[in-house]
Amino acid sequence: MAINGSFATSADFFRINYQSKIMKAIAVIPKKKNSVHLVEMNEPELGEIKDGRGVLVEVLRVGACGTDREINNGEYGVAPKGFDFLVLGHENFGRVVETGENVKELQTGDFVVATVRRPRGHSIYDKIGEQDFTTDDKYFERGISRIHGYMAEFYAESADFLIKIPPAIKEIAVLLEPLSIIEKGLKQASDIQERLKIWHPKTAAVLGTGNVGLLTVMALRLRGYEVHGFGKQARKDYLNAELCEAIGATYDSTDELSIADSTKKYGEYDLIFEATGYSPIIFDAMQSLNENGILVLASVTGGTRKTDQVPSDKINQMFVLGNRAMVGTVNASREHFEMGVKDLALCEAMYADWLSRMLTHKVEGLENYDRIFDILNNSAKYNAIKAYFEVNKI
Ligand code: BGC
Repeated sequence: MAINGSFATSADFFRINYQSKIMKAIAVIPKKKNSVHLVEMNEPELGEIKDGRGVLVEVLRVGACGTDREINNGEYGVAPKGFDFLVLGHENFGRVVETGENVKELQTGDFVVATVRRPRGHSIYDKIGEQDFTTDDKYFERGISRIHGYMAEFYAESADFLIKIPPAIKEIAVLLEPLSIIEKGLKQASDIQERLKIWHPKTAAVLGTGNVGLLTVMALRLRGYEVHGFGKQARKDYLNAELCEAIGATYDSTDELSIADSTKKYGEYDLIFEATGYSPIIFDAMQSLNENGILVLASVTGGTRKTDQVPSDKINQMFVLGNRAMVGTVNASREHFEMGVKDLALCEAMYADWLSRMLTHKVEGLENYDRIFDILNNSAKYNAIKAYFEVNKI
């Protein structure tokens, strides 16, 4: 970054380099509750990226999610080395404004989404470009852990970490990053199921119908599954329920039908995708899988919740005798973002405007960060699915 390395604290940070242009960004002091604030910092420069592979990107939209909320709650997130603050934002969408001399695949004006994790660890997975599988305790994620994020007016990045976005999906491309997480989860599930000579999954349950849950419902419908979505809220007048049903999935409130009981109605599930953020539900899910079925866990639960009353003998027996599997999944690599681009385009073709309906709350201008966090903290009150900043007009 063009930020002078000596800016070790927020206060120092205002001693900016006056030769550079100044931009706005949204930052937190990690581990400090409700510390979100506006900072001014030097605009990034291409020269920060080595090998002529730099790309300067004007940020157009940045989504906000549960991870941003947890970071602002002080439960998660790490500042970059030498800083006491972290610029937030990982769900990004932008436009290329300048490219380095060795960037052939992108040009000025192209739309791009950047991946989140960087291969800066020591593990073999970092070295082979599969940093989403890093075994290091310290990982490097823009806007989350040890690298500043995208809630800023510009960012500079190597072309290696940028995904080109077809203009036809520009209006909904801010959903690509969360979708990439799902694509990785589903890819892992199908990779694991290669253990079976034949696996023809038919039914799936998606636990949680927030933005990750809804995108999962969509991705599974595109793959031909019979999909059952579950959320906490009652079905009536609930947009998320309506969106499930609009693409041929069902929606049930777990207050009326538990996951375990739902198997009496829908049968046991070949695949279950957990995206509620409420960890005790996974034990219910483990008991609702079909033989040879797979449970994908995708919630990052930064809290300290514990639960007893787990029927451990039963669950163990089901997993052993039924060859069931469970996998945790986090982050996504370039491959999963590229899968996501195809699914966004296919979804637009099959269910026109369905994705736009997920973009419920647009907040213009980074200075209105209070509004974004109010929506994030009270999503039920606002009927919010995805709140996002419009930093610059598309
Ligand atoms: C992000 C991922 C990240 C994970 C854990 C999620 O919200 O989408 O990219 O790996 O948080 O930090």
